[in-house]
Amino acid sequence: METRELTAPTDARQQLDDLHTTLDSIGSYIFMKDCNGCYTYANAKVQALFGRAKEDIIGRDDSAFFALDVSNDLGENDEQVLLYGQTIETQERNIIAASGEERWFWTIKRPLYDKDGTIRGMTGVSTDITEKIQLEKALREKQKLLETVLDHAPACIYLKDTDRRYVYLNQHTACLYGHEAEMIIGSRDEDILPTDSAESCRLLDERILTTRERQSDEEEITDQHGNTRIYETQKLPLLDEDGTFTGFIGFSRDMTEPRQLQQQLERMAHEDQLTGLPNRRRTEQILEEEINRAHRTGSPLSLLALDLDHFKWVNDHHGHDVGDQVLIQVGVALTERLRSTDSMGRWGGEEFFVILPETGHEGAQQVAETLRQTTSAYIRVGDTPITMSIGVSEYNRMEGLRRFIQRADSTLYQAKSSGRNQVALISSQAAFR
Ligand code: GH3
Ligand code: MG
Ligand code: MG
Repeated sequence: METRELTAPTDARQQLDDLHTTLDSIGSYIFMKDCNGCYTYANAKVQALFGRAKEDIIGRDDSAFFALDVSNDLGENDEQVLLYGQTIETQERNIIAASGEERWFWTIKRPLYDKDGTIRGMTGVSTDITEKIQLEKALREKQKLLETVLDHAPACIYLKDTDRRYVYLNQHTACLYGHEAEMIIGSRDEDILPTDSAESCRLLDERILTTRERQSDEEEITDQHGNTRIYETQKLPLLDEDGTFTGFIGFSRDMTEPRQLQQQLERMAHEDQLTGLPNRRRTEQILEEEINRAHRTGSPLSLLALDLDHFKWVNDHHGHDVGDQVLIQVGVALTERLRSTDSMGRWGGEEFFVILPETGHEGAQQVAETLRQTTSAYIRVGDTPITMSIGVSEYNRMEGLRRFIQRADSTLYQAKSSGRNQVALISSQAAFR
């Protein structure tokens, strides 16, 4: 191989000057110290850092330039080099004495030996990494803040990759699944959840993986205690800097209690507090639905209006609480006698309505008779049997809801005026059909 011979510069002084220029133009702090730690050389960057001319630096040690009482990283490192001949590559935190400014350096320090192998000093190259350290610190603080927010957010927040495997999950999600977050990362729902819950999550996962667009729906998840909870979930696509779809982020809010409350309120709005039967409003709704159905199907529909006889007497002689118990017993006893398609509601006070779909007036009259007999046979206060009067009406297509209700009431009135404890059917109603 051909080697090119390097020619030595003729002017050694020139060479030294060039070397100084080179060292001064390097973006690092370059210095040399003697065995006592006093500077024997400092490049332009060191001079600028200390705010001193070279002459004011040479011969002095670091106590003149750094607040060594605050941080003595460099003193300890120098000692390793000068006393034990070690080469050090490490991070140093130094405080500039003049300004009190904290600066971080990546430092390489090596011993310098004389001919007989004795340490005569050291050389050092330090690169300022303060900005990097500050950036890393800020990033760590941001990360900590983010983790605190995510872990204390009252929702399940998680990241999954395109293979539906967990990449991240917050504390709330880990608690729900009953495992440490680290155990779950890399798993799919089917690895950690009961089959039904996993399936509920998979459906929405598949939707976002197919469409790559935001999806929202409800998910049902059985928690570690076996309780089924309802979650309102949003899943958002995740794209990296190149715009590549990498997975999705999920937010799931526990809606179990609000839903239960909502259901309870709905139930309270429809239910009679004392008997648990449909209240007047709900009874009217059911009747309207059945009227519409009778119109659609052409099948008959009948309505019974029931009223307890002399109920005021029950209250007056036995007290309101006993009266209440009678109302509850009537509800239970009569409901048992009805088909599942029939409905019994409390119309008000001691008056009830029974709706009999697909039943004409003859069938309705039979049901009414059964209900009347059941009441007088099984419901009593002390030795006194409770009786009721019932009016039977079959719906006719020409009338509306209001007229039908009015007719039921007036048929009931007829049963009352004819002596109570009986069933009345206005004979002319057959002609309406
Ligand atoms: P009639 O045979 O004519 O129907 O006589 P009645 O005494 O049953 O009729 P009236 O309308 O005079 O009285 C109804 C009574 O029902 C009066 C009221 O205090 C009582 N009542 C209404 N709602 C309740 C209730 O929720 N609990 C109790 N214990 N009593 C009620
Ligand atoms: Mg009454
Ligand atoms: Mg009444």
